[in-house]
Amino acid sequence: MSHHVGAQAVVLGGSIAGLLTAHVLAEAYEHVVIVDRDETDGARDARRGVPQGRHAHGLLARGQQVLEELLPGFADELIGAGIPATDVGRMRWYFNGRPARQARTGTLVFGVMRPVLEHHVRMRVRALPNVEFVEGTDILSPVLAPESDRVIGVRVRRRTPGSVEETIEAELVVDATGRGSRTPAWLESVGYPRVREEQVKIDLFYTSRRYRLRADPFHGDQSINPVASPAHPRGAFFHTLGGDEALLSLTGIGGDRPPTDPEGFLAYARSLPVPDVYEAIRDAEPLDDPVAFRFPASVRRRYESLTGFPEGLLVLGDAVCSFNPVYGQGMTVASMEVLALRRHLRQGSAPAPRAFFAEIARIIDVPWDIAAGGDLAFPSVEGERTAKVRISNAYLARLQAAATRDAGITGTFLRVAGLVEPPQALMRPAFMLRVLWKSRRPAPSPGEASAPAAPGRVPSEPLRPS
Ligand SMILES: Cc1cc2nc3c(=O)[nH]c(=O)nc-3n(C[C@H](O)[C@H](O)[C@H](O)COP(=O)(O)OP(=O)(O)OC[C@H]3O[C@@H](n4cnc5c(N)ncnc54)[C@H](O)[C@@H]3O)c2cc1C
Repeated sequence: MSHHVGAQAVVLGGSIAGLLTAHVLAEAYEHVVIVDRDETDGARDARRGVPQGRHAHGLLARGQQVLEELLPGFADELIGAGIPATDVGRMRWYFNGRPARQARTGTLVFGVMRPVLEHHVRMRVRALPNVEFVEGTDILSPVLAPESDRVIGVRVRRRTPGSVEETIEAELVVDATGRGSRTPAWLESVGYPRVREEQVKIDLFYTSRRYRLRADPFHGDQSINPVASPAHPRGAFFHTLGGDEALLSLTGIGGDRPPTDPEGFLAYARSLPVPDVYEAIRDAEPLDDPVAFRFPASVRRRYESLTGFPEGLLVLGDAVCSFNPVYGQGMTVASMEVLALRRHLRQGSAPAPRAFFAEIARIIDVPWDIAAGGDLAFPSVEGERTAKVRISNAYLARLQAAATRDAGITGTFLRVAGLVEPPQALMRPAFMLRVLWKSRRPAPSPGEASAPAAPGRVPSEPLRPS
């Protein structure tokens, strides 16, 4: 640790983005403070500030690589804690109700509840001697130096009755308060232009429930995921939590809300285009009540195009871009942004806001195009279908059909969706020809007479972190 950049930095929000940010700031500042409204010490369950913690969360392949870079030995730590890990290829994907051929990718995926993953990240940060957690505390607003455009701290108030406002001073303040970030409104209130916001309105619902299963439906696979498509807009993420426990998140787009009453939840699972999920849960023991989450729109805030912005303040994670969660990108993109922050700090200074926002905009571009473009395949989603979007979605449908016949195509698709390969990998002429050829006759769905018993499988021998 060299502490070469400054004396004190403050991170607003102690979730995944905030914790990782604090970890890299601790290399560069003498003292780092994380402020959050929740008490998180030892928390391994969903908390008020992160209600999405009850729902299925997968870490993309790139996210797993970046977490390993930021927190060396992290994957081994999860494995040591008994969290099931398998090759990303050992997820059972269904595209349009048809099983994708499984492919070995060499990257791990963990069967873990989101709060448990966060707990392991937090333990790493709590172990740092120069990081202080200020919890049970509301963040009110950044503080500007008088007559200046430099942020010099943050106003907070503890949630205990009778508490008064306090200011925590800082040379750098990083907003990682998630989608509900108040920085856009605060900037406007102190005379800066309003940050432009792009939205893709999807009106998505998740409803989730945990189960103790009577029989093993996974057979070595990490999860069973019938992916929503325009023809089958209902989807599910059903993954093992180790032993006989599993988490099921049902998804519906365009206002189609998976019910929270037990019968309705079961009926929705039964309406999926493949029977695997319903058959696994119909006799299983529920471990909690179904709980719903509404996600009205993906939101991208264009900080990089602001003409004025105060020094000493950065924003990252969901506070900048909150993606349609079905693509599983949020934690991975947040970790990639933190890696960018670390590159700057290692050069000896905190990044200038404009340079940082330009850099993270480039990180966001690809996943945003994947998610926002993919969503426009659904008729219920509002937005302009440019020729590029229409061609991409038509090609993606062919690609998913081809993946039911060709494990190599599944593997390349998963690496692109996992943000370890660029989308151009799907556009190479030889690959496109293979997609067109293999998509002529997709594999039958489980309901069709000649359906195979299971998708072509990859072996399930233990893997090491990539
Ligand atoms: C249903 C659902 C499923 C998802 N699935 C996936 C997935 O599979 N994979 C994936 O990578 N991502 C997924 N995401 C996205 C993922 O949850 C986020 O990207 C991730 O949590 C990183 O967000 P963050 O740290 O920026 O903000 P958040 O996780 O939203 O955390 C914000 C933090 O700030 C604190 N806070 C906010 N305001 C204040 C305030 N005024 N005062 C004090 N504290 C405050 C909160 O308590 C919280 O701790 C999903 C999201 C949803 C909604």
